Amino acid sequence: MRRPIVAGNWKMNLLVDDAISLVEELMRLLADVPDVEIVICPPYTALYPVGQAIEGSAIALGGQDCYLVENGAYTGEISPYMLIDAGCSWTIVGHSERRRYFNETDEFLNRKLKFALSSGLKVIFCLGETLEEREKGEMDEVLRRQVRKGLDGLDEADFERLVIAYEPIWAIGTGLTATPEQAEEAHGFVRALVRERYSETISNGLRIQYGGSVKPENAGELMERENVDGALVGGASLKPDSFAAIVMAGVVAA
Ligand code: PEP
Repeated sequence: MRRPIVAGNWKMNLLVDDAISLVEELMRLLADVPDVEIVICPPYTALYPVGQAIEGSAIALGGQDCYLVENGAYTGEISPYMLIDAGCSWTIVGHSERRRYFNETDEFLNRKLKFALSSGLKVIFCLGETLEEREKGEMDEVLRRQVRKGLDGLDEADFERLVIAYEPIWAIGTGLTATPEQAEEAHGFVRALVRERYSETISNGLRIQYGGSVKPENAGELMERENVDGALVGGASLKPDSFAAIVMAGVVAA
């Protein structure tokens, strides 16, 4: 049985005061939710104060990205060790906005993923196809490449700290959501790829979140699907009521 995981990606939003108000409200709404793992990923500037505010709660802290060395002359980057220092136990790697706007390739993301895992962080690793790729019938090929190159060289223990987020790019921030059938098909495919490349045990244990315009109205029907083990939530994670309702949908689906 895979425990659902719901994560909120706040992206480049919220100053510290607003971030604290949001988590205070979230902690009130989600005081006792044993069946779902909850992660929030604020912007870097809010990590430490938000981490302090949620200490002792069921909500874990994550970064939205990290670089692939411990420290040094990499202006503007952040090391996994800095995320841990700020209170994070998680980080996102490979979000489509990083792939698209910052030209992060599968090979580069694979190095980041391995470094983040070796630092002790747990990782939400994102993948997914564009609308054009889906319409051209290239979805399987794209997912196969992202899994093969992105997860290359991981060992069995790494998978215990890895969650995959399947995020069709055409559904991110667009209001378009994959249907539960489309999500289930893609998640089943990704799981089969992991089974082929690694093992039945690893693929059965791997949690695969869905991301792309998840809202309280569609979260339940998505997370009810056999291979959908939670949600990575962008826009709706900035509203405490919506994010809490999505988490509660995960409880029902658990
Ligand atoms: C995301 O950024 O990972 C995401 C899924 O965004 P949204 O929920 O806003 O589509």
